[in-house]
Amino acid sequence: SAVQNLQEVTQDKVQEFLDSFDTVLTDCDGVLWIDNNAIPGSAGTMNYFRKLGKKIFYVTNNSTKIRSDFARKAQELGFVANAEDILSTAYLVAHYLKDIDFSKKVYLLGSNGIGEELEAVGISYIGIGPDHVKPDFKSMKPADLDPDVGAVVVGFDEHVSYPKLMKAASYLASEECLFIATNTDERFPRADSIVVPGTGTLVRAVETCSERQATVLGKPHAYVRKFLESCGLNPARTLMIGDRCTTDIELGIRCGFQTLLVLSGVTSSKDLDQIRYEKKPPLPDVVLPKLGDLLSLIPS
Ligand code: PLP
Ligand code: CA
Repeated sequence: SAVQNLQEVTQDKVQEFLDSFDTVLTDCDGVLWIDNNAIPGSAGTMNYFRKLGKKIFYVTNNSTKIRSDFARKAQELGFVANAEDILSTAYLVAHYLKDIDFSKKVYLLGSNGIGEELEAVGISYIGIGPDHVKPDFKSMKPADLDPDVGAVVVGFDEHVSYPKLMKAASYLASEECLFIATNTDERFPRADSIVVPGTGTLVRAVETCSERQATVLGKPHAYVRKFLESCGLNPARTLMIGDRCTTDIELGIRCGFQTLLVLSGVTSSKDLDQIRYEKKPPLPDVVLPKLGDLLSLIPS
């Protein structure tokens, strides 16, 4: 299938597109904002969707915040959002473990966002914050491990260290220990030449030394898909908006949603040329430079 550029179609087609969905699922970073800066026009477009009566959900692979913090950030940047409208990977971790009546402790290679969501469902955890080599890495002993740990959760952790990898892999040496990861994003979007490793980097590291494969909960994996399917959406009338083909667009395709790719985040227009040329899936149905461009295309 060809990727349709919404800017190249007639106003009738744009109207037809707007009429074709009643639920909007949107990625956050790269579509609505980058870090703490709103992407111009995104709030206007989302608010227009809301005015048309469309139901909106925010679906983010970011594991560092709880849902109410995301809602507050969204509100500060001009979006209308409630905590219940937000599906973040920290929330998915807590939901997953609660679903299976998990009653042990979590070893968390991650940040406060996951910790707070776990607390909210009564699950205890250890591992947050720095864990440095002292006095040398080989001095770690089995007694340094907590016998109550029954799951290793890997999310974004800026304090990742050799001792943490040792502990994670040592817990995972026990077959009964669950191995859960929030997401496998390769990198964070960045305008300059600095590469910022994403959570997928840490997941691969733990998978390598534990010789196991994580159950990944975020976009485009099965758990978030099942979660969305349980929300009673009509796939044919749902639109997934994203800036990353391998997570957002892939999830949309797997769920049978319509998909809109914007080029304001991870995927560049050069990447899109490559995608179109190679016709290599996952291909979005439609594309726009940025979400705000939809506003200027709307028939008055
Ligand atoms: N993971 C972390 C830790 C992040 O900070 C971000 C973006 O800020 C993401 C993942 C990607 O989030 P999204 O799925 O909203 O693009
Ligand atoms: Ca994104």
